[in-house]
Amino acid sequence: MTPRLRSLTAVGVLLVLAIVARVVLLGNGGSRVQECSGLTMGTTYTVQFAAAQLEGYQIRDTVQALLDAVDHLMSTYDSTSELSRFNRHAATTPFPIARQTLDVFTVARTVSERSGGAFDVTVAPLVNAWGFGPAGRPPAAPSEVELADLVHRVGYQLLTIDSEQGTLVKANPEIVADLSAIAKGYAVDQVAAALESLGIASFLVEVGGELKARGRKSDGTAWSVGIELPDSDVRTAYRAVPLTDMAIATSGDYRNFYEADGVRYAHIIDPRTHRPARHAGASVSVLHSEAVVADAWATALSVLGPEEGFALAEQERLAALFLIRSGDGFETRETSLFRQLVRSSASR
Ligand code: ADP
Ligand code: MG
Repeated sequence: MTPRLRSLTAVGVLLVLAIVARVVLLGNGGSRVQECSGLTMGTTYTVQFAAAQLEGYQIRDTVQALLDAVDHLMSTYDSTSELSRFNRHAATTPFPIARQTLDVFTVARTVSERSGGAFDVTVAPLVNAWGFGPAGRPPAAPSEVELADLVHRVGYQLLTIDSEQGTLVKANPEIVADLSAIAKGYAVDQVAAALESLGIASFLVEVGGELKARGRKSDGTAWSVGIELPDSDVRTAYRAVPLTDMAIATSGDYRNFYEADGVRYAHIIDPRTHRPARHAGASVSVLHSEAVVADAWATALSVLGPEEGFALAEQERLAALFLIRSGDGFETRETSLFRQLVRSSASR
């Protein structure tokens, strides 16, 4: 690629990133940090790493192949993905599924149980009905009757994970699943593991706004990510978070939404009401050692909102930061573990 083409591609990637992510990568560059980026899973990824002897393109090929493989297992947009095939399996007979996908369903199940069903991958029919699935926007919001018709297909308890057999079993042939709220976090963990096995001790991986950092930069400071100011046309970091050996995922209602007849519909569905989650919360970020867990909890806490979600986050000893709309601005609420982790990341 010519340098000019490369820089144009980089601009394109950044523009796409501006549309999808809720984080801003903060001045982590510098002469000893290499970077590669690309498109995958309907979004963008960026990897920054400090490794003088390895060529960026070697890393890029490895990362791209890995992410494309995860996408080919878990995408609802790819009709040939394993998940799409599982969704078409309209039967209650066991469906053999890859270990990676099973691992994601297992984390999803745990977060469903601990969040009282706020996180639920079987919410897919409702995601589609509200126009946030592969089929796109409906001509009108779904009616009560239409929603009532879908409800018997929603409920995480309707899926049984058989780890020994490596299968998933539907209690009702019509169950379909959507891993969009968790697969990017899983992909981040996979990339991080691959970089570690290549011997890279210091990196920052980002897929569609979910991130994981390992080690520290060559100048000894922590990798730093900015949580974006919600609702802003200009991408501004509201809050910088130092990240050392930790993942962060952010879920919010201000990027992916549409307005119809003056009502705002956001892409996170509350499985209890069968409707887009509606509360004053603007975004929730969760820190966790595993990005897959952080991603699922960020969505779960978004569903629950700043009151119920915050209380549960404290009870579950989660490190969460809520940005809450308040008047013309925002107020923040941090759980005690969030405060503690940020302090120790910065000072270590
Ligand atoms: P993003 O993908 O924008 O980073 P999330 O991780 O919160 O944000 O995932 C949102 C996506 O997850 C939705 O577009 C939808 O496909 C799916 N989803 C919506 N509501 C739920 C829910 N309650 N539980 C699990 N997945 C959900
Ligand atoms: Mg999520």
